[in-house]
Formats: sequence, C-alpha cells, structure tokens
Amino acid sequence: MSMTELEIQGQIIKPGERKLISLPVGVLTTHEPVTMRAWVIRGKTAGPTLMVTGCIHGDEINGAEIIRRLVNSPSLRKRFKGTLIAVPIVNVPAFSNRSRYLPDRRDLNRLFPGSPKGSLGGRLAHVLTSELLPLCDAVVDLHTGAVNRANLPQVRVTAEDRASLEVAQAFGSPVTLTTETQPGTFRAACNEAGIPVILYESGEALRLDTASIRFGKRGVQAVMRHMGMLPKRPAAAKKSAKHAVVCEKGHWERAQVGGIFTALIALGKAVKKGDVLGFVADPFGDYEEEVVSSQTGILIGRTNVGQVDEGDALFHVALARFPSRAEKKIVQSGEGLPDIAEDDDDHPVHYDPYTDVI
Ligand SMILES: [Zn+2]
Repeated sequence: MSMTELEIQGQIIKPGERKLISLPVGVLTTHEPVTMRAWVIRGKTAGPTLMVTGCIHGDEINGAEIIRRLVNSPSLRKRFKGTLIAVPIVNVPAFSNRSRYLPDRRDLNRLFPGSPKGSLGGRLAHVLTSELLPLCDAVVDLHTGAVNRANLPQVRVTAEDRASLEVAQAFGSPVTLTTETQPGTFRAACNEAGIPVILYESGEALRLDTASIRFGKRGVQAVMRHMGMLPKRPAAAKKSAKHAVVCEKGHWERAQVGGIFTALIALGKAVKKGDVLGFVADPFGDYEEEVVSSQTGILIGRTNVGQVDEGDALFHVALARFPSRAEKKIVQSGEGLPDIAEDDDDHPVHYDPYTDVI
C-alpha cells in the first residue's frame, strides 16, 4: 500500500477518489444493522483533513442537507486538496424516528467519547471518535435549535480555545458564542483529542431552512479555503468573514405567566434592557403581560410556539454591549442570503450560484 492511500476499516480510498464508506455499529430490535455512513472525498493533492458531522441529534436535519449539498458541490471537483470526511447522519436510529434522542431515550451528545461495549449510543460515539476523529485536522459539527425553537446562524466554540476560534472566524458566522463545553459532547471529545472544533447551529429541528443551509454550506467551504483545501477567493468576496459578532454569554427570557404568546421581534435584532420583546395574553381576555428584556444584546433564538406555560423559554439573547452595531454586522455577514427568492432555490444541489463562487 502506498503512503498516500487512506484505509478506514479495510476500505481504501485513493487520492482523487470519493467513496461512501459504511462503518458497522450494532443491530436494532428489528434485526436491522446500524451503520455509520461517511463520505470520504480526497483531492489528488495532499492536504489537511476536515470532518463535517450532521444529525448527532436525529431531528436536526439542516445538517444532513448542508452535507448533501456540500458533497455535490462542483468546488470539490476542481483544485481540491486534502480530504473531506462528511457524515450526514451520525445518529441513524434517532434520524429514522425523527427524534432528537436515541431509541433508549438517551442523548447521543452526552455519551462521547463512547465505548465499544457500551449502549448503542456509546458504540456510535465510539465509532466516530476512534475511527474517524483521529484522521482529522479540524471538525465542524452541524446542529439546529430544538423543535419549534429557531436559531439565528451561530457558531459555538470553547472559550480561550484559540485554534477553534480561528476556525470559527474563518466560518464567518453572524454570531459566535464562546461557551463552556459540556462533558460527554462530541465537542468535548474533540477538545480532548486536541482537534479544533466548532459547532454550527441554525434554524430549528425537523424543518429545512434555506438560509440556514446556505449559510452552513458557505461556512464549511470558507473553513476549507482557510485550511488550504480550496483555492482562496478574491479579496472582494471575503468581506463577510470580517463582520462576525463574538458574545460570551447567552440569556433566556422566560414567560412570567402562562397564555397565548406573540413575539414582536425577529432573530438578529438588537435588544436593549427594558425593550418589549413580545406579550403573553390570557386566552380568556383578562390580561396581556409584556415580555420585557432584562438584558442588552442580540436576539439569537426564539420559540415559535404560540402557547406557553409560566417559565417556558421564549427569547435567547446573546449579551452584547453595542447591540445596534452588532445588528449591523449581522446584516452585513448575511449579505445576499436572506434576499434569495424561494423560487431561485428550486434545485440548488449541484450548483448554487450563491455558495459555489469558485
Ligand atoms: Zn443539536
């Protein structure tokens, strides 16, 4: 075997080749095997390896769609260096159930690094961490908000992790949140292995969102350019990456009473302490209670549910000292994206005029 061949569990991928490989994980109650399927796409020239993962939470389907469009992108066929490992659906059993969780109701993103003799989730985690992660120079893990809870495109990265922050900057997300990494997450496993990792969150579970998908695909390609896997874009096209807003903390504004909920503010907007964000009304007409912001920042997440109980999370505000300036930067970072007409997006899989600028 020559030095340049890549072998993953006996499956050989030569330079210039692309293969969809299958890694066995276990067997389901129906006696069907569970396998983790990964695209391994290699350029003809040596270079770094990037892994992109989707659907660690089975209902966060924007990630799978970002990867589907990414692996079909014409930019990967020309002047592409190194190796892209793309796992559209990490949590296959949860994806089949259209659920965030594994069939035993556990959260796969609390089971890393996993174990070869653990639960099904533990084994899934182990396959990813032991077979694929060691091959990588960086990781982009794709997520969305929860069911009925939409997120503005945002990147989460571990505070003071410089290498990961650099990847986050290259991705060019409107907002980067520097947050603590929870134990058991894939992000924690990457940190442990010393591999830079960012988590991209956009949109909501069970729902495809065009802007989130385009932003995600564009971000991954920007990371690939940053790593030298794709040719650099002309200076004029680099503008967006400079406009990211970095926030250290998020705060959830919760319902103070139960009732029918109306939001009055959109994602990405500036929020000042004392602003009215929405209201909760008594369905019997007795009261209308304003939801007042206790913080100053940018709205990065919002519930889309019209019924709320007291205590339900309504608005996620990323704290920022100069929210109007941050709002402006967010608009600039999304230049072109929100304005794309839906009928332009008929079939953007093989060539997307917005994200496939080569
Ligand atoms: Zn998630």
